[in-house]
Amino acid sequence: AHLDRIAAVDGAVHAYLHVSAEDALATARDVDARRAAGEQLHPLAGVPIAVKDVVVTKGMPSTAGSKILEGWIPPYDATLVEKIRAAGLPILGKTNMDEFAMGSSTEHSAFGNTHNPWDLDRIPGGSGGGSAAAVAAFEAPLAIGTDTGGSIRQPGAVTGTVGVKPTYGGVSRYGLIAMASSLDQAGPVTRTVLDSALLHELIGGHDPRDSTSIPEPLPALVDAARQGAAGDLSGLKVGVVTQLQGEGYQPGVLARFQESLDLLTQAGAEIVEVSCPSFDAALAAYYLIMPSEASSNLAKFDGMRFGLRVEPEEGPVTAERVMAATRGAGFGDEVKRRVILGTYALSAGYYDAYYGSAQKVRTLIQRDFDAAFAQVDVLVSPTAPTTAFPLGEKLDDPLAMYLNDVATIPANLAGVPGISVPNGLSDDGLPVGFQILAPAKADDRLYRVGAALE
Ligand code: GLN
Repeated sequence: AHLDRIAAVDGAVHAYLHVSAEDALATARDVDARRAAGEQLHPLAGVPIAVKDVVVTKGMPSTAGSKILEGWIPPYDATLVEKIRAAGLPILGKTNMDEFAMGSSTEHSAFGNTHNPWDLDRIPGGSGGGSAAAVAAFEAPLAIGTDTGGSIRQPGAVTGTVGVKPTYGGVSRYGLIAMASSLDQAGPVTRTVLDSALLHELIGGHDPRDSTSIPEPLPALVDAARQGAAGDLSGLKVGVVTQLQGEGYQPGVLARFQESLDLLTQAGAEIVEVSCPSFDAALAAYYLIMPSEASSNLAKFDGMRFGLRVEPEEGPVTAERVMAATRGAGFGDEVKRRVILGTYALSAGYYDAYYGSAQKVRTLIQRDFDAAFAQVDVLVSPTAPTTAFPLGEKLDDPLAMYLNDVATIPANLAGVPGISVPNGLSDDGLPVGFQILAPAKADDRLYRVGAALE
C-alpha cells in the first residue's frame, strides 16, 4: 500500500531519492512467513520505514543529498539500520535532505527540493524534509531523521508530524555520514508519540562501535508514552523558556503554544517561566562549532575514497588538483560556505576568538539547562518561530534561513533530548509544533508530556 502511495504522490512531493521496492517486499514476505510459522516478532515487524539518505544502508544508495556521493553504494549498514532490519521493518527507501544536512528547508539538496504535503509551494522543513514529508503524506508510517541543530524537530513542526532528537549518545552514530559529530543524533519521525517511543526503543541503546554511545540502558519510553496518554500530569513542573517566545514568533504559533500550556495545566502540571539568558547566543555559537566540525568531517571527500572523481580540465593530474576539481564540482554552495567558515574559524590566529569563544558559550548554555532543570522537569517552547515558508523565500538569505533554528539549537549544544509534537494549525492553516526538552538521559519525560498533549 505504501509503495502504491509513493507511486501516486511522490512525483508531486519528492520525499524520496531512492525507493527500494524489491528489498521492502522481500522483507515483508519474510515477516509474513515467520509470523505464519508462529514466531514471536518485534511489535514493529512488517511496519515499513523510510530512512534519511545521510544514514548508510548496505547495497542501497546513500548520497547525503550530495553529488559528491552520487553512485556510492555503502558496503555496510549503520547500527540503527541493522536493528531495523533485524526487527523486520521493510525499508521503503531513502529520503531527500539538504546536502550533508545543512539547511532548514531541503532546498539545498543536490537532487531537487521536497514539497510540503500541506501546501506544495512551501518548504517541508530541513534538513530532513524528505522524512517528514513522507510521513505527513502517508508515503511511510515511520521514518528516520538526524538532528544536528533541529533537522528532525523543525521538519516535524512544519509538516504536523512527531519528531524526536534523543539524548546525545542515546542512538548510535555508527553509520551516519557525519556533519558535526558532537551535535549529530538520529531519531524517529512518526505520526504519533507512541510510534516514536516504539521506534526510539528499537534503534537506541549502547553500541560499542560509537565511542560516545551511552553505556546504560534507555529509560522505559513506551511505558512513559502510555502513562502520558492517560492524561494525568499532576506533580509535573513545566518551564516556559523566556528567550524562546515573543518577538520573531508568528502570532498564530504563539496562540497555539498558549493553548497547549492551558491543556498541560488542566492535566495537573504546574507551569512556571524560566530564563535561560545564554540561549540568545546559541545560534551564533552553533554556526561556528557546526561548520568547524563539518569542515573537518568533509575533508574525506577527496575524489579518491568515495563517489565522485573529477579530473582537472587541463594541466597536470596531481592529487591536489583532483581534490580541488572534485570538491569544486561535487559540493553545493551552502556546503562550500560552511567549509570556508569552518576552516576560517579553526585557523591559527582566529581559533581562540571564534571557535574558543563559541565553546565557552556552549558551556554557558549547558549551565542554563542545569539551572533550569534544577527547578523544573521539562522545558517547553514553540518548535519553530513560523509555519512553513514559501519555497525560495529564504534561499538567497542564509542568515534568515539560520534563524529558523533558534528554538531547536540549544538542545544540540547541551546534548539534551527534545521532541516536537503537532500543535494544531496556525491562522494560515499550516501546522505548528510544540517542543518539549528534558534533561540528558530523561527522554522518557518527552514521551510522557508529548502523549498527554495528543
Ligand atoms: N538547519 C540547521 C543547519 O542548517 C540544522 C541542520 C541539522 O540539524 N542537520 O545547520
